[in-house]
Amino acid sequence: MKNKTAVVVLSGGQDSVTCLGLALKEYDKVYCISFDYGQKHSIELTQAQLICDMVKVPLVIMTIPALAQLGDSALIGTDGDVTEAHPFNKDLPASFVPNRNALFLTTAHAYAQQVGAGTIITGVCETDYSGYPDCREIFIEHLQATLNIGYLTNINIRTPLMHLTKAQTFALADEVGFLDTVIDHSHTCYNGKRDVKWMWGRGCGKCPACELRAKGWLEFLENK
Ligand SMILES: [Zn+2]
Repeated sequence: MKNKTAVVVLSGGQDSVTCLGLALKEYDKVYCISFDYGQKHSIELTQAQLICDMVKVPLVIMTIPALAQLGDSALIGTDGDVTEAHPFNKDLPASFVPNRNALFLTTAHAYAQQVGAGTIITGVCETDYSGYPDCREIFIEHLQATLNIGYLTNINIRTPLMHLTKAQTFALADEVGFLDTVIDHSHTCYNGKRDVKWMWGRGCGKCPACELRAKGWLEFLENK
């Protein structure tokens, strides 16, 4: 049964594109929000736009220049190796961007109020734990409560992938009829490569994001 309006936080990666497929199946009206924060690979945003155009869903791209000004992640700017430890905190990966998810969801919460959406869907996941503490369920639950207290709203931040493995995320995309879109058009490669096509999608095939995606694909095939 379809229910009302949802905002999907769309990075253009496998997880968020799967969330878009789910939203299209379950909601009457879907809006997408992406963020331009000076990330190294704007290819993600190109893919997000392409996918939204394909399924005829409005996409708004919000700019958050503060993250680039802080500039302390290997995902921003041109320096840094994504496989190393974060300069501030050796327990976090270099790709970690401090407070990024809080800024994204806070902005998405304001956008949801604007378009009258009762749900925000985000593809964060703590199963294949990437070492990003702001992708954990406890963080999302607390942020949802905080934002709703602050703005007298009752917006649900839905995290359908929170406890799924990458293989299960492929299975979900398949279930909602979005697997081809995920494989052909979503982008996760940390090296921004799209010239090589694998069975699981496009990417360098070597970076941690590609490795995770390839491993998930194999598990998905084994369980299919
Ligand atoms: Zn890669």
